[in-house]
Amino acid sequence: MTDILCWICGETAPLSKEHLIKHSDLKTTLGLISQQAPKYFHTLNEEEGKKISSFKRSELLRSEAPMCNKCNNDRTQKYDRSWQRLHSYLLIHQAKTPKVIDLNEVFSEEPLLHMDRVQLYFAKIFGCRLVSNSIHFPIHELAEALLHDKAHPNIYLSIGYSQIDLVGISPLINYTMPNNNESFVWMYSIGHIQVQIGYSKFHIPNTKEASYDPSKKVFQISIQQFP
Ligand SMILES: [Zn+2]
Repeated sequence: MTDILCWICGETAPLSKEHLIKHSDLKTTLGLISQQAPKYFHTLNEEEGKKISSFKRSELLRSEAPMCNKCNNDRTQKYDRSWQRLHSYLLIHQAKTPKVIDLNEVFSEEPLLHMDRVQLYFAKIFGCRLVSNSIHFPIHELAEALLHDKAHPNIYLSIGYSQIDLVGISPLINYTMPNNNESFVWMYSIGHIQVQIGYSKFHIPNTKEASYDPSKKVFQISIQQFP
């Protein structure tokens, strides 16, 4: 039997499973859940959500991609924390739905580093989805970015607010561009806050202007209005 390896560092056990939707995002957005007050997890192509009565226990919220405890905790926690800070800011300012935000207001120090780490947080979830769905992809590129705390050059983020209150992740939409170059796009939704994650070697697939483009180092980012 072959050993199961962590998709990021290539080490064997102990392995754990990554949350597809961040546990703290669920808690801050939805509050407490229980058997009596379940919440519903949506994938955007399904009419009915799936019932969740515990964030910690629900397998629906976890990826099957093998990841070691070190990668899931020490190594990538800084990425989780940067997203957590941006998410909190977006949540606090939700009523005003700003069109632009100044990263200096979100992150008091090193805002550009934190935005790269927000991208790496979504790169991690993206990698987990690719691996658990056995999708052909140069996964080592994502692993390298995560191991070296270096933004991936081909992942774009569109961040914004939606009228729809939804929790979940959309299916991965895969485009084959000319020259057989593949592009992907998917959504991460947490209440009225949405992030569209695009992967392309050439341009942002099927998306509005990106809030985050790894080739541009900017302190003000545009905030999208999603349907
Ligand atoms: Zn690992």
